[in-house]
Amino acid sequence: MAQRETTSTKPRVHYDCTQCPAFCCSIYERVTVTPADIKRLAKHFGVPVEEAREKYTKQWEDERILRRVKDTIFEETCMFLDQKTRGCTIYHGRPGVCRTYPARSRCAYFDVLRFEQKQQGDKSVMPVVKIIFREDVG
Ligand code: SF4
Ligand code: SF4
Repeated sequence: MAQRETTSTKPRVHYDCTQCPAFCCSIYERVTVTPADIKRLAKHFGVPVEEAREKYTKQWEDERILRRVKDTIFEETCMFLDQKTRGCTIYHGRPGVCRTYPARSRCAYFDVLRFEQKQQGDKSVMPVVKIIFREDVG
């Protein structure tokens, strides 16, 4: 998620996180963290694990998730997103799920962004996506 670094050893991908408003850091209400992720966060900030757990994560049902804040583009986003650059401020300390997302060569949200910009011939266009769960679909 919101990657800002690339290396030539990585498989070819068809999205560019540096050109994206960080949909993935913003539209998912829950970014799950494991005990290992919390340990990494603690190390990244040089604080005790318990402090990192309280300060940067919260409980959601039976999951521990990253805390969120109000966003300038979406309703909310991850507390670690730089809202100006739209990049991750804890890149080397980010949780495992952020490291693997989107786990395929294309990112659907980036495709939608590029599609709409091309469609309207305007690079400033940004579709604001929201995930909802419909009750009438079983
Ligand atoms: S939504 Fe896709 S392109 Fe945008 S930051 Fe996340 S992984 Fe990168
Ligand atoms: S930790 Fe970084 S990559 Fe993960 S959701 Fe937050 S801002 Fe995005």
